[in-house]
Amino acid sequence: MARKFFVGGNWKCNGTAEEVKKIVNTLNEAQVPSQDVVEVVVSPPYVFLPLVKSTLRSDFHVAAQNCWVKKGGAFTGEVSAEMLVNLDIPWVILGHSERRALLNESNEFVGDKVAYALAQGLKVIACVGETLEQREAGSTMDVVAAQTKAIADRVSNWSNVVIAYEPVWAIGTGKVASPAQAQEVHDELRKWLAKNVSDDVSATTRIIYGGSVNGGNCKELGGQADVDGFLVGGASLKPEFIDIIKAAEVKKSA
Ligand code: PEP
Repeated sequence: MARKFFVGGNWKCNGTAEEVKKIVNTLNEAQVPSQDVVEVVVSPPYVFLPLVKSTLRSDFHVAAQNCWVKKGGAFTGEVSAEMLVNLDIPWVILGHSERRALLNESNEFVGDKVAYALAQGLKVIACVGETLEQREAGSTMDVVAAQTKAIADRVSNWSNVVIAYEPVWAIGTGKVASPAQAQEVHDELRKWLAKNVSDDVSATTRIIYGGSVNGGNCKELGGQADVDGFLVGGASLKPEFIDIIKAAEVKKSA
């Protein structure tokens, strides 16, 4: 079964209501490949989710950037998976490196979040990736495998999971991984899934790349055999996000 190309836009903690409306207008007017070719999901900050959901074209979907690890209650400042489901928000990004690093989210905590969100019916973009120090120490695959194992230990059905491989050194730095570097880790991750989960999960789970993807580098990255799309930060706030969505065509003609 072919893996459908996936392009996510992570807007992070950016934007005013006016700016968000402008981005949505740009997306709504864009000519992009059909839903059979590419799945597009944008992730505004929580407070803009209802606005974006109600104004965005119906072939694009929305994601929250995080959710709480269990049922809601006395957890001030958190948003529960149940609330997202209640508002018909289909996707959530979990384990983003900014949350792992700045908010000390451990592999186990991220694994628990992924399992809980899936159990509530959300689809999950689960982020993994090594720091520059870890890459230079030659431990990229150990780090990424440990992050993925914490998810695999808690999840049995992978059909609603997209893995985002996002090397920390490439996020927001303008230092994109080379197509060969991305392909190498995606291939290793797929092999890890085959060995530790199943051949089927390995063959069908989308592994997308994130880290300084832009309109100029997306085609070559997207052309790699095991790169099934992107999670895009900075460029997802700009019109070039449309070009990144169009990079899905490289798979169609491959
Ligand atoms: C991200 O935050 O997920 C990301 C990939 O950011 P950027 O594209 O800006 O590097």
